[in-house]
Amino acid sequence: HSELISEPSVTREILKKHGFTFKKSLGQNFLTNPALLEQMVSAANLTPEDQVLEIGPGIGALTQLLAQRAQKVVALEIDQRLLPILADTLAAYDNVTVRNQDVLKVALPEFLATEFDLNRPIKVLANLPYYITTPILLKLIAATDELAEIIVMMQYEVAQRLIAEPGHKTYGSLSVAVQMNMDAEIAVKVPKTAFIPQPKVDSAIVRLTALKDPLIPAADKLAFNNFVQIVFKQRRKRLLNNLIQHFGGGSEAKQKFSDCLAKVDLSPDIRAEALSITELYGLFTILLKDGY
Ligand code: SAM
Repeated sequence: HSELISEPSVTREILKKHGFTFKKSLGQNFLTNPALLEQMVSAANLTPEDQVLEIGPGIGALTQLLAQRAQKVVALEIDQRLLPILADTLAAYDNVTVRNQDVLKVALPEFLATEFDLNRPIKVLANLPYYITTPILLKLIAATDELAEIIVMMQYEVAQRLIAEPGHKTYGSLSVAVQMNMDAEIAVKVPKTAFIPQPKVDSAIVRLTALKDPLIPAADKLAFNNFVQIVFKQRRKRLLNNLIQHFGGGSEAKQKFSDCLAKVDLSPDIRAEALSITELYGLFTILLKDGY
């Protein structure tokens, strides 16, 4: 017998039994749609050898499916009120470990090395707490050497930024930070009604797969990300103005930056949002050589 935690009636029963009340400040919107969770898990193509990191297990709706399909699941949950509940709902599974930790405070590479066998694939699955979607994503992306695949539920609006292409109005530094490391696609668009309580916004399940050949050499990633932050600082402004704004300097500096743009065949009027990652990296390299 394996009753699904995500069945609305089962979820309600668990919440009632433990007298659980939602904390909005922790982004607690629980999934109560078994078909959707099934889609999420299929998007991950789990095999019995897979090891899974889950962020924010809640009462275990997703965790249960992961425990059934993967070799091992480690879940990070900040809300200690959920620990006795998870011990109850997941009692049937001996391959799940719940850690009462804040994902943003975990040193991820060390944590992964302690909890998992780094020689076998580690996948991340999570219905993210939306108040910290971006910092969690940035943290996961920084660990792509260890993480084969990331399947996460997030706000639809953020999902669109992740997959945006140059020239699109949602293309920005987050799109670049993600796409320089990973292929990003929206696997499923999800209505508010899949959750209790219902969030204010629509959601999407996003699949991120590590690129075999990352677009940016590992040694340059940090400096390039800083550069990207600078040139996208004021999206409506010309890239040149953002450079001057940040690095200062008078007409001489302006001329130097224009020359750099010209060297990579870019107009001085160009905006960062029009440039592909490869073009941005080309410009970064030129500016670096001229010691900006
Ligand atoms: N996985 C469950 C589901 O799909 O029904 C719950 C998802 S709910 C959107 C987000 C979960 O993340 C909650 O359980 C919340 O307590 C937890 N959470 C919030 N902030 C966290 C943090 N900083 N570190 C770890 N977990 C966090």
